[in-house]
Amino acid sequence: MTAGTVTVEQAARALGGRSQEVALCLDFDGTLSPVVDDPQAARPLQGVVELLGPLARRFAAVALVSGRPAAYLGEHAAAPGVRYLGLYGLQEMRDGQVRVDPRLEAARPAVAAAAAALRGSPAVRDSGAWLEDKVYSVAVHTRRVPDRDRWTEPIDRTARQIAEQHGLELIPGKLVWELRPPVPSDKGDAVRRVVAESGARAVVVVGDDLGDLPAFAAVAELAAGGRDGLRVAVRSEEAPPELLATADLVLDGPRGVLDFLRRLADSPVEPPGDYGYDLAHEETGRARAGHDAPGPAPGEERGGAPVGGGQDARSADLGYDEAHDF
Ligand SMILES: [Mg+2]
Repeated sequence: MTAGTVTVEQAARALGGRSQEVALCLDFDGTLSPVVDDPQAARPLQGVVELLGPLARRFAAVALVSGRPAAYLGEHAAAPGVRYLGLYGLQEMRDGQVRVDPRLEAARPAVAAAAAALRGSPAVRDSGAWLEDKVYSVAVHTRRVPDRDRWTEPIDRTARQIAEQHGLELIPGKLVWELRPPVPSDKGDAVRRVVAESGARAVVVVGDDLGDLPAFAAVAELAAGGRDGLRVAVRSEEAPPELLATADLVLDGPRGVLDFLRRLADSPVEPPGDYGYDLAHEETGRARAGHDAPGPAPGEERGGAPVGGGQDARSADLGYDEAHDF
């Protein structure tokens, strides 16, 4: 399935019809929350948080998966039943309890030392970059740096040096460099955990940045293993081309995500088979013939499950290809 071949309506219909076996993994910044100059001022788009609780009741799981601390996610997107996986899955807040990977706890002194070194470095100090202390990691943000072109290279070099000196790894993002302990975890691990623990048969990942690529890869891997998946990229001026290219569905900014979530929340639990089928085939025109024929369209016999298991990672995402097999 090539990027953007699924429409929002098709996806919402198909997923809504089998919501109890679908896990939704949502990024925060740039996905639920518009990107703002001050990262601490990032808040979900109005209307998003109210949808999360109802979605969590209806779907197998709703998880916020982010590089942010779990408590930040839980504070600004508080909704019953939602899982908050922060720090790329190394920290989770669930039912008000925060759990942290013990390897992160052990690395706190190194992170604190790196934060101090960054704070005192000419590149960070003189550029006006903002240092975000996340306790278990530290991030340098240049979104508000006036002369960004001039400072990008020195900050990149400084961040790399300091990361190396303190045994941390450097994760670059959009106008941000994050230094964190080399405890292997990425959003893909978080997604795999949510799927495994929820028993979901299908997974939807929504994200807008480089850090979401491992989550997309996990979707492809789970699909190859027999589950279904949908990779949803959020388009912005800064969206990495490789993320957009890998996506099955591309939404326009957090507004597009809000619309998608609304449609998921509003979608019928058991969609009429012919409706989902018809939409899924509109591009090819193949459904039209069947649909116009007297009697039930062939798709109606598929039990209203257009999100079916394809056989390979590319086509398994929503199973629309598989739906051709009538
Ligand atoms: Mg993001």
